[in-house]
Amino acid sequence: MRAWSIEKPGGRQVLQQIEVEKPVPKQGELLVEVKAAGINRTDTLTRQNTALTEPYPILGVEVSGVVVENQSTDSKLHAGTRVCGLVNHGGYGEYVTMPDERAIVLPDELTFEEGAAIPEVFLTAYQTMYWLGELKEKEKILIHAAGSGVGTAAIQMASQLSQATIFATAGHPEKLEKAKELGAHVLVNYKEESFAERISGVTEGIGVDVILDFVGGSYWKMNLESCAVDARWILIGTLGGSEVDKVSLGDVMKKRIVLKGTLLTPRSDDYKAQLSQEFAEVVMPFFKEKKLKPVIHVVIPFEELPEAHRMMEDNENTGKIIMKVSD
Ligand code: NAP
Repeated sequence: MRAWSIEKPGGRQVLQQIEVEKPVPKQGELLVEVKAAGINRTDTLTRQNTALTEPYPILGVEVSGVVVENQSTDSKLHAGTRVCGLVNHGGYGEYVTMPDERAIVLPDELTFEEGAAIPEVFLTAYQTMYWLGELKEKEKILIHAAGSGVGTAAIQMASQLSQATIFATAGHPEKLEKAKELGAHVLVNYKEESFAERISGVTEGIGVDVILDFVGGSYWKMNLESCAVDARWILIGTLGGSEVDKVSLGDVMKKRIVLKGTLLTPRSDDYKAQLSQEFAEVVMPFFKEKKLKPVIHVVIPFEELPEAHRMMEDNENTGKIIMKVSD
């Protein structure tokens, strides 16, 4: 089968198309013929990870496709079932294996491209807002990188599942326009104004209950200012740097802020299975009813993966970049 791996860790030029044997599913796993794969920041970071040693992996952490073989004894996912889900790696190949209990059945209402745009960003947004952030009905949430894959998923769920008041930041007017269309209420272009001042004004100095923070370092001080008492601040990315100069722990204590950091990719198989199953039950019906929709920036052909990484690294996308793998 065809797949994308790397020659060595580095820039986009190290991406290489290879021919390899199809993977063989172990007990409890599915073999999936991949129709489409999502491109994620974690893929561009893996591509550059100098700690990786040979043999280098096939990249890609999420797919949609059709079950070809099932090595699980108690599963309803027969050959031919349309599924999507998280894979540990190998999503950028024509076939991939996936633990059976992690597969999410893809409703007929959704295309394979839409299916590949769901797992990583919607599961991350669900896990961070609800399992970690404990977002409650009608609370106030600040969602940074509002045009990102995870941001567009988070805005929709906070709106549809929780009727939250949503504060969204992004660096381009069209990304903020999209955020508004998806349910955000207060829009801040971080290149033009301070989100902390805006939030303080709108909330009369109270602040927000939950922050979904993809940015880290450069937003530290403003995030701290934006937290309400008992706020939950969930750190899921460090796009603005991973170090902070001065930290006022007094402010963290005074506001009783709960700060949690997390990474989904290294979580255990059990954790991902539990998350996928709860998501399938609680959230997938919203897709069937068209109350949630995957936001797709572009679908690129298999051969053009390096261009997909370029778009992501240049922050061009609003929503997901999807690679079509087979018809
Ligand atoms: P994406 O679609 O590539 O979008 C990221 C967006 O962030 C960019 O388009 C850019 O939009 C904004 N951005 C970039 N640098 C910034 C900076 N210095 N300050 C403020 N905004 C900046 O990303 P994604 O795949 O959805 O992932 C979003 C983030 O979540 C990434 O950091 C990723 O690593 C993280 N993530 C974490 C987990 C986890 O479990 N912890 C899981 C999935 C993803 P603008 O044009 O608005 O600047």
